[in-house]
Amino acid sequence: MSFNVAIDGPAGAGKSTIAKKVAKELGFIYVDTGAMYRAMALFLLKNNVDQEDKEAIGTKCQEADISIRYENGEQIVLLNGENVNGFIRTEEVGNMASVSSANPKLREKLVELQKKLAAETDVIMDGRDIGTCVLPNADVKVYLTASSKVRAMRRFKELEAKGLTCDLAQIEADIIERDNRDMTREHSPLKQAEDAQLVDSSDMTIDEVVEAICSLARAKM
Ligand code: C5P
Repeated sequence: MSFNVAIDGPAGAGKSTIAKKVAKELGFIYVDTGAMYRAMALFLLKNNVDQEDKEAIGTKCQEADISIRYENGEQIVLLNGENVNGFIRTEEVGNMASVSSANPKLREKLVELQKKLAAETDVIMDGRDIGTCVLPNADVKVYLTASSKVRAMRRFKELEAKGLTCDLAQIEADIIERDNRDMTREHSPLKQAEDAQLVDSSDMTIDEVVEAICSLARAKM
């Protein structure tokens, strides 16, 4: 039986940074489910699918084959066989992912792949519905959050470090809008699973959060 750690939480809570480090510590595979929704969003954007057209999203997504492979521990997302890692981290793709991921047909396709991966291997998987829908029997469940101010500031610094100019207030407004969409959608909304441990990282360092999650996992291994 594989050992599964589920991490859910809102945008910019640090899930992927933390999950990557925990995966390394525990020798697990890190599965970034947001990247799969982003690859699907990229496919829809490339095919000029209107984000308001729910029917077109449900139909078109059937033509996209999403799979993942690992190279030196890094997750590579393949869209119809092509590595799209370099194209999925834009705001445009993130926003399309947040809209199109509300579609149940699109979710069904990706959840199937996620469940299969977790059944085969020890994984730490992050997303919005991992503890509630994808891996309801995960050995460890964490709901990782931080205040919207702190999350916006982290994103601001990331963009600044890349030499991009950006507006902190706009970043926070976008984060709040995205959380709201993810939390209020009908299918698999973002919420804390009843048996998930809440970790608020607003006043914690990355290493402190990694240690907290590793301790929860080690206690169950
Ligand atoms: O985590 P990330 O920002 O990469 O995710 C992009 C979008 O994909 C999220 O805003 C969310 O709408 C969607 N998502 C989801 N379920 C997941 C992971 C991501 O609906 N398990």
